[in-house]
Amino acid sequence: MTSDPTSTAPGTSGTPGAPGADAPASAALLARARAVTPGGVNSPVRAFRAVGGTPRFMVSGEGAWLTDADGRRYVDLVCSWGPMILGHRHPQVVAAVEATTARGYSFGTPSENEVALAEEIVARVEPVEQVRLVSSGTEATMSAIRLARGFTGRSLVVKFAGHYHGHVDSLLVSAGSGIATLALPDSAGVPPEMAAETLVLPYNDVDALEAVFAARGPDIACVITEAAAGNMGVVPPAPGFTEALRRVTAAHGALLVSDEVMTGFRVSRAGWWGHEGADVRPDLLTFGKVMGGGFPAAAFGGRADVMALLAPEGPVYQAGTLSGNPVATAAGLATLLACDDALYAHLGSVSRTIADAASAALEAEGVAHRVQWAGSMFSVFFREGEVVTYDDARDQDTAAFGRFFHAMLEAGVYLPPSAFESWFVSGAHDDRAVEHVLAALPGAARAAAAG
Ligand SMILES: *Cc1c(COP(=O)(O)O)cnc(C)c1O
Repeated sequence: MTSDPTSTAPGTSGTPGAPGADAPASAALLARARAVTPGGVNSPVRAFRAVGGTPRFMVSGEGAWLTDADGRRYVDLVCSWGPMILGHRHPQVVAAVEATTARGYSFGTPSENEVALAEEIVARVEPVEQVRLVSSGTEATMSAIRLARGFTGRSLVVKFAGHYHGHVDSLLVSAGSGIATLALPDSAGVPPEMAAETLVLPYNDVDALEAVFAARGPDIACVITEAAAGNMGVVPPAPGFTEALRRVTAAHGALLVSDEVMTGFRVSRAGWWGHEGADVRPDLLTFGKVMGGGFPAAAFGGRADVMALLAPEGPVYQAGTLSGNPVATAAGLATLLACDDALYAHLGSVSRTIADAASAALEAEGVAHRVQWAGSMFSVFFREGEVVTYDDARDQDTAAFGRFFHAMLEAGVYLPPSAFESWFVSGAHDDRAVEHVLAALPGAARAAAAG
C-alpha cells in the first residue's frame, strides 16, 4: 500500500502508485532492513502494519520536527512514544550528554549520575521511598512483579484488558499497544501455565475486581494497572476506580503496582500520582519513557520495606549490565530538571489546541470520533461514545484512522501509526509547529470521511 489515494491534504501533489514511491529512500532502507531484521523494524508498531504504506526512516530531529531519509519534514506528534517531552536535541540535554561522554560512558560501577536521577525521582513522587534503575519499561514492570511475588509469597497477578506493561511473558495477555494494533489476543511463545498466572479483568470494572479477589484473594500477589491507560488509546480510570484498586488490594494483602512508564513525569511533575492527588498511594510504581530523556533508562520504586527485598539487600534477584548508565541517567536528569510548571502548562495548552482542532475538523466532515484525555495526553478514537474498556477501544473505524493518518503524513505531520496510541506533544511545539498541524487537519478529516 502507498499513501491513501483519496488524500486531499494541503501539499498533496498527486499520489504515486508504486509501493514506496512516496518515500523512495525510506523504501530502500526498509528493503535493506527486511533482509536482516524481521519486518525490517526493531519494534512492531514502527512497521506501519496498521495503516499500510512505507514506514519513514528518520535521519534527524530538531525541536518539534523530524526529517526523514527523503528529506521531508514532519511535525512530530509521537515524540519517540513519549520520551521527547522537551522536543528533539534540547540544548540542556545535549549538554548533559556531551559532558558525560567526555568522561566515559559506561563503567559497570556505581556512579553519581544514577544517584542524582534517583534522588530527583524520589523528590518528585512521594510514594517512592526507594528506587532501582533499569534500562526499559519492560524490565521495570517485570522486576516490580517479581518483587511483589517475592514480598507476598503469592503467584497470581491481576491486570486489565488493553493495558500494556511491556513484553513481559506473563503480562502479554490481552495487552494493548502493538498487540492491539496487530489484533493478537496473545503472543505465541508464552507458555499457557505462565499466562495462567495472570488474571485479566475488564478495565474500570469494580465488581469484576471484587469478584476476583473474593475468589482468589489469598493467591494474588498484586494488581498492576496503567495509572491511566495510554496503550489502547487514552482511557483514564473512571472516578473512584483507582481508589477501589487501593481499597481491595489492601484488604487482601496484595500490592498495588501503578505502571507510570507512560504517564510518569508526562502528565504532571509527579506523573499520574501527582495529577490525581495523594490519596491513592500505590505500593510500587514503574517509570520509563520521559525519565530517560530519549535514552534507555527506566525505574521501579515504592515502599522502602518492599524495595528492601531486592538483591543485594534481600532475596529477590534483579540486575543489569547497563542499569543506571551514566549517559542515560544524565539525559534523564537533564530532562526532568527542565520539566517545570511552565513546561506542563505549555503541554496542556498545545495539546488542547491540537485536539480541539482535530475534533472540529472531523466534526465538519461528519466523521464519528471521540477525544479522550489523561492530563495532557490525549487520543482520538474513530467512534462515537465514551471509551471505558478495551472492547470499547477496539470498536472503532481503524480504516478511517488509516486514511486520516496518511493524509496527515502527506501534509507533514507524523502521527502515531495506529489508532490505539496516544498523541504526544513537547515543549518545542511552538506556534509554527502547531499551525502546521492545524493546517493539515481539514484535509485529513476529508480523507477520513471519504471511506
Ligand atoms: C512503553 C510502556 C511500557 C514498556 O516500556 P519499554 O521501555 O517499551 O519496555 C510499559 N508500560 C507502559 C504503560 C508503557 O507505556
